[in-house]
Amino acid sequence: MNLADINTLKSLLSKEGFSFKKSLGQNFLIDPTVCPAMAENSADKNTGVLEIGPGVGVLTRELSKVAKKVVAIELDERLKKILPKTLGDLDNVEVIFGDAMKLDLEEIIKEHFADCESVSVCANLPYYITSPIIMMLLEKCLPITSITVMVQKEAAERLCAEVGSRNAGAVTVAVTYYAEKEILFEVDRSSFMPPPNVDSAVIKLNIRENPPITVANEEKFFKFVKSAFAQRRKTLLNTVSSTLNIPKDKLRTVLSELSIKETVRGEELTMEQLAQISERI
Ligand code: SAM
Repeated sequence: MNLADINTLKSLLSKEGFSFKKSLGQNFLIDPTVCPAMAENSADKNTGVLEIGPGVGVLTRELSKVAKKVVAIELDERLKKILPKTLGDLDNVEVIFGDAMKLDLEEIIKEHFADCESVSVCANLPYYITSPIIMMLLEKCLPITSITVMVQKEAAERLCAEVGSRNAGAVTVAVTYYAEKEILFEVDRSSFMPPPNVDSAVIKLNIRENPPITVANEEKFFKFVKSAFAQRRKTLLNTVSSTLNIPKDKLRTVLSELSIKETVRGEELTMEQLAQISERI
């Protein structure tokens, strides 16, 4: 069954009486070139792949061809009667029904991928929780080597921006702290059923063994970063003093000690500068 074929998908879904739920970010891929490319980029014969949101299994089938094992986590229980029909013939695929944000992923990895050399995550993410899922995967420091995911194009540009450039936000800093990042390719909105209102892109995050900067207290660093990008039109001085309740004079002294101009905005700072300021306040 070619699940990326629009007629096959339409007839399967109508036979099963399945209707798309916008609230679950259900835009299924119908471009036959996208899933093989995502799979090739995320796994090989020694890899275990954790997929989030298999839908009817179009990406899952491609992952099963290149990976040692695939575990797919799906929230929508209505797919319980469809997935056995679309994936039932594959002996290296298992589907777990539940919320990827709530399940114990570390335990799932331990239980299912003990015989795999490495583990990666691959998904066409539900767009309503793109950043929360990516941040959860990174912050939990799971034993994974990479995350290859489809996200909205704008989100891809933000997530993969250079820290210190206009597109950077707090999430860019967090992603850069945990991973090396790249945009693999763009995907037109017409590649999905139903088509979303925006184009998409597939990004790959290669998890770092060590962060590119040293911070004494990660929690404090990320709290500072959040505040530095909280009000993008304001200077760092104004936004950090108001959101973290730090006297402006104290901040002025720190900036001057680091030879950073007083009018600097969060988006202009490098990882090193953000770390240095955070350590001193
Ligand atoms: N992989 C399929 C494809 O590419 O056609 C479907 C991708 S669709 C964009 C997102 C999928 O994630 C849907 O199947 C949706 O039901 C599922 N999903 C939404 N929220 C989820 C969550 N919190 N945990 C697991 N799956 C979720």
